[in-house]
Amino acid sequence: MTRLLLATRNAKKLEELRRILAAEGIEGLEVVGLVDVDEFEEAPEIGATFEENALAKARDAAEATGLPSIADDSGLSVDALNGMPGVLSARWSGRHGDDQANLELVLAQLADVPDERRGAGFVCAAALVDPDGDEVVVHGDWGGTLARKPSGTNGFGYDPIFVPDDEERTSAELDPAEKDALSHRGIALRALLPHLRELADEVRR
Ligand code: IMP
Repeated sequence: MTRLLLATRNAKKLEELRRILAAEGIEGLEVVGLVDVDEFEEAPEIGATFEENALAKARDAAEATGLPSIADDSGLSVDALNGMPGVLSARWSGRHGDDQANLELVLAQLADVPDERRGAGFVCAAALVDPDGDEVVVHGDWGGTLARKPSGTNGFGYDPIFVPDDEERTSAELDPAEKDALSHRGIALRALLPHLRELADEVRR
């Protein structure tokens, strides 16, 4: 078994990656999170793009731990806000991680925006960095529109106001497996699979 670090403290993200690897039949990689490795200093996310942030996080993690490391960065891009909150999604209201305040601010900003201009998308960049220096970055997009009020209790962040394309429910009303199959993060993590398969094969050799 080789340890593969997913640079996160979010247990749901760890479970999601484990489910995806198991579904693909990829064996030989043990997915661990930041709580499972020695603590190291985590730089603040200051990149201008999701890609820069994901790559910086994965590089730091690989360098600090010597493990192949994945990091992701994601957010909501709202058409009527010219693509914002974007990389500022987690701190849009000014308070980092205050999901409720962030969502309420976006709803208030869009109060007068008509239905046909309420398009939005979740975006995710995921980077895989090997301590040898090999790097790959992949993306996932999930398009939809923004509702006028929150519904649903699953998920996190902006899920209660995001209605994916071809859906009537918000992403907070989808069950976790449904969300994994459609979401920006699921798409990005699945795009890493060929590289993770290679890593698992190298371990076996
Ligand atoms: P991070 O990439 O986990 O740091 O997420 C950045 C922020 O984007 C989160 O705090 C959420 O506000 C938002 N976000 C990212 N992915 C999702 C999602 O799947 N559902 C809802 N909000 C999300």
